[in-house]
Amino acid sequence: MKVTLLGTSGGLPIPGRAQSGVLVEALEKKILLDCGMGIPLRLSEAGIKVEDIDLICLTHGHLDHIQDLPSLTKASWLRSGKAEYKIITPSSLRKKLISFWQSLDEYERTELQFEALGDEEDYESDINIRAFETKHTRISQGYEISIEEKKLVYTGDTATSEKVMEKAEGADLLIHELSHLEKRDFHTDPEGLIAEVKGRDVGEIVITHFYPPVAEDIREIAAKIQEETGVPTTAGEDLQEFSI
Ligand SMILES: [Zn+2]
Ligand SMILES: [Zn+2]
Repeated sequence: MKVTLLGTSGGLPIPGRAQSGVLVEALEKKILLDCGMGIPLRLSEAGIKVEDIDLICLTHGHLDHIQDLPSLTKASWLRSGKAEYKIITPSSLRKKLISFWQSLDEYERTELQFEALGDEEDYESDINIRAFETKHTRISQGYEISIEEKKLVYTGDTATSEKVMEKAEGADLLIHELSHLEKRDFHTDPEGLIAEVKGRDVGEIVITHFYPPVAEDIREIAAKIQEETGVPTTAGEDLQEFSI
């Protein structure tokens, strides 16, 4: 499984960082996790054509995770004359997205299929994709993607939670949000992540979704998480690649 970070910022602009987006390539499929501002651009920089994405999984409806989805479908239509995407969403988001796309010109919404997936539900495919509830909006979810013995966990936005850590157990790669320096109700801070991960069986952590104060010291923060948890930890950068 090849994993490329496409965007590593949260809702505020940070030079050199697009908003949320992760590309997963496995079994000749390309899966996009979230599509915040700048993701179609980052895909092109990674050498990926937007029309070649096979599946899009959205974690929740905040704009820094979905706002460049219309740009992506439009770009696909411009280049290939179609925008055929299957888009997995939390249940509450599906209807809102469908009504949004209905407000666009018809050519910008050809062949979009929105499929809702609830907590602990699987997407039927040769790659195992399971949604799991996170602690963020009323309905927000992360994704667990596994092939044979390899497991990737992507949290999207979340406070630390027992559920997320249950999923992280045994993961080869955990892509966990780290939005703020201080504790907040619906996001994660360094101390919270350290407390949750310590003693767990996690292969590697990649932190992402930074707000400006975090981004300024992100390498030191990653080093501290690694030192205190014993888990190799990387501060995510746009277009950084991982292989599991
Ligand atoms: Zn966010
Ligand atoms: Zn959010």
